[in-house]
Amino acid sequence: MKKENRRSFLGTSLKGSLSLAIGLAGISDWAHAENTEQEHTNHEGIGIFDQQPLPYGYTDLEDIIDAMTMEIHYTKHAAAYSKNAKEAALAENVNPQESLETLLGKISHYSTKLRNNAGGHYNHEMFWQCMRPKRIDNLPTGNLLQAIEKDFGSFADFKTKFTDAAKTRFGSGWAWLYKDDNGNLKTGSTANQDNPLMDLSTQELKGKPLLCLDVWEHAYYLKYQNRRADYIQNWWNLVNWEYVQRRWESNR
Ligand code: MN
Repeated sequence: MKKENRRSFLGTSLKGSLSLAIGLAGISDWAHAENTEQEHTNHEGIGIFDQQPLPYGYTDLEDIIDAMTMEIHYTKHAAAYSKNAKEAALAENVNPQESLETLLGKISHYSTKLRNNAGGHYNHEMFWQCMRPKRIDNLPTGNLLQAIEKDFGSFADFKTKFTDAAKTRFGSGWAWLYKDDNGNLKTGSTANQDNPLMDLSTQELKGKPLLCLDVWEHAYYLKYQNRRADYIQNWWNLVNWEYVQRRWESNR
């Protein structure tokens, strides 16, 4: 869907309820959450590195993630990954027809610049979609919850494992829920902008990412300073479990 079409879609169907979010975000696109994976594979050229509009406004994740953090994170940090990934992909003759997922699956053959920035772009685009305005008693539904209970014992046990992965990641990185090549759900963390799609021999986790959490200081420092654990604990109320469920379903 082209941006113009998205805007007109918003204009006709969601205008009233989202006017505040649109005003603050510039453009917003709830519909995009449905289309993320298709868009990653359907873009032509180096469009796979384009930033998609945030699916909410900068203030909409308050009071868990503050508006200034969201704005800087999206318009500065994530924008830089997008721009630098394009530069590196052009310089390294990346096939413009292949998907970002395919590229990341053979990223060990490319430069560190492309690894860091293509990873950073993929991770942030996914991260934005993994969140929504906060909900109390925010739990996965449907067969994802059953799968989590099967592979971790209980949702509480899963949450503890994911939280520990996020808390104990030394320095900058990400926590993940992912599906390994045998179809089992696992948690873990990666350094820098690496992710479970990458073919890195130094990395233990490998598979399809379902849920991610950014634990770089830029993701939380303005509000939480050194209190990463508080950021993680609050963040659970933002998880968009419907989006995670769709990722889970799309790869069964
Ligand atoms: Mn980040």
